[in-house]
Amino acid sequence: MTKGSIVKVSGPLIVAEGMGDVKMYDVVRVSSQKLIGEVIELRGDKASIQVYEETSMLGPGEEVVSTGEPLSVELGPGLIQGIFDGIQRPLNKLVELSGDRISRGIQISALDHSQKWTFNAIKAVGDRVSSGDIIGAVQENEVVEHRIMIPNGIEGKITAISSGVYTIDEVIAKVVTEDGEEKSITMLQKWPVRKGRPYKEKLPPNSPLITGQRVIDTLFPIAKGGVAAVPGPFGSGKTVVQHQLAKWADADIIVYVGCGERGNEMTDVLNEFPHLVDPKTGESLMKRTVLIANTSDMPVAAREASIYTGITIAEYFRDMGYSVAIMADSTSRWAEALREMSGRLEEMPGEEGYPAYLSSRLAEFYERAGIVKLNSSYDRIGSITAIGAVSPPGGDMSEPVAQATLRIVKVYWGLSASLAYKRHFPAIDWLVSYSLYADRLEKWFNDNVGSDWAEYRGEAMRILQDEAKLDEIVRLVGMDALSPKDRLTMEAAKSLREDYLHQNAFHDIDTYASMKKQYKMLKLMIDYYRLGQEALGRSVRLNDILSIPARDAIGRSKYIEENNIEEFDRLSAELRTQIASLTAKESF
Ligand code: ADP
Repeated sequence: MTKGSIVKVSGPLIVAEGMGDVKMYDVVRVSSQKLIGEVIELRGDKASIQVYEETSMLGPGEEVVSTGEPLSVELGPGLIQGIFDGIQRPLNKLVELSGDRISRGIQISALDHSQKWTFNAIKAVGDRVSSGDIIGAVQENEVVEHRIMIPNGIEGKITAISSGVYTIDEVIAKVVTEDGEEKSITMLQKWPVRKGRPYKEKLPPNSPLITGQRVIDTLFPIAKGGVAAVPGPFGSGKTVVQHQLAKWADADIIVYVGCGERGNEMTDVLNEFPHLVDPKTGESLMKRTVLIANTSDMPVAAREASIYTGITIAEYFRDMGYSVAIMADSTSRWAEALREMSGRLEEMPGEEGYPAYLSSRLAEFYERAGIVKLNSSYDRIGSITAIGAVSPPGGDMSEPVAQATLRIVKVYWGLSASLAYKRHFPAIDWLVSYSLYADRLEKWFNDNVGSDWAEYRGEAMRILQDEAKLDEIVRLVGMDALSPKDRLTMEAAKSLREDYLHQNAFHDIDTYASMKKQYKMLKLMIDYYRLGQEALGRSVRLNDILSIPARDAIGRSKYIEENNIEEFDRLSAELRTQIASLTAKESF
């Protein structure tokens, strides 16, 4: 065990000498208070250490002891519904032990080692198993079956296994390897956060992560296993978008990393999530969620670690064959932590003081997302969808974090200050946003939602783009210069914007729209447009088309409840009758 001593303290960074034997990324304990730190630079026998706790009382000469282990997370039953800090210390336990101001050096494990879980074995003595194979499961709560896997690096024949009630440290099975060594298997695994968990092969994403948010699912869908960024200036709705995704995305497991945001936003999550009911299971949404909170008032170094802690937990559930979604709010605050540490290391600063490795670190995070075939002997598939909020100062997208993120992600939900100002929420700007998965996912939507889905979606996009062009003309020469056909296009675009894309996160019904509802709604709006254009062609007056009663009903159709979906078919029939009667009148 290497023992060194502090020579310098600079905020969350300390330098210790006598550290010749430690490795990069080893975890150390600092001073008699045993603060947790991690080696992030080695020069000769001097180690630079980022300390995950308040360092104000430290001074030169105090001891630094290496644990010889990298920064790791505990993986096992008890993760779900957990609320952890950036280095996976359970926040409620921390507060219980030390009151609101978290005191330092508390030794506390991430998972509860005394709690008992009912383990149901699905393998038997004599079965051959290798890393990643599922040997049994714990029903962690009503929603999540926590599958217990053979840890990495173990392969052999099971010599003992039995269902029963165990803590995560008790032996549930034994495996004898090729060379005759007997390994004890528990329900607890440890994994270093900075290293991705292995898998066999990455697959091309081919199905969407349905979010219930119309602008996302319809116009800019994200694939399961995809990567997306939500950039936008302060107040444009990044956090609400992230919360909506955490609430409604059809993933099995949600990992929500609140990183560097204000404490009250995290409190919102903590207060709100337990009361939200999952439309699929009828259970609290918290029952499939792991929260990692490293708010702006918590030590900055732990913020740097928080996204790795989050993605490692996500990978663990992916390995069980689940679809996992991870949200990081915000990656800009994370990058600021990186910049602060880099500055204190006196590294050569790159653009705007960010270290030169900013892009590669960001890429390393997003690269751990994906849909993968796993390493086990079975064809198990799991996915991680990663969504990062980016909050560039002043909304300036040319700054380094936004630029680096844009080079990596495949979906861009660009939030616009002017839409937010007009209270058009979600303020995702349809003219600048994109999804590089849209073409690939078209087949899924056509097969699963409606065979003419792509056609309707394409038409909606075209109408919105036409509106932008027509807007220019209107600005120059006024609305009267437009032909009735163009004016109908403007009206259709307005209805798409206000009645379809606008979606109130805080309205009980509107907050979530199933794909079926999105399809029927979109169809109704586009059909109105098409029938209207046809009627114009038969000399029906634009005003008559605009004043049919069905039009108002279409505008309110977002409030039709999911269990009353047939209402759309009734509306559609009404629409047809009303337009037909206009045309009939004309032909007299
Ligand atoms: P940011 O995280 O970008 O600073 P927030 O997510 O906190 O912004 O959003 C700011 C405010 O905008 C919210 O408090 C809410 O009033 C409003 N808002 C954002 N998105 C929606 C939405 N989908 N529906 C209704 N209101 C919204």
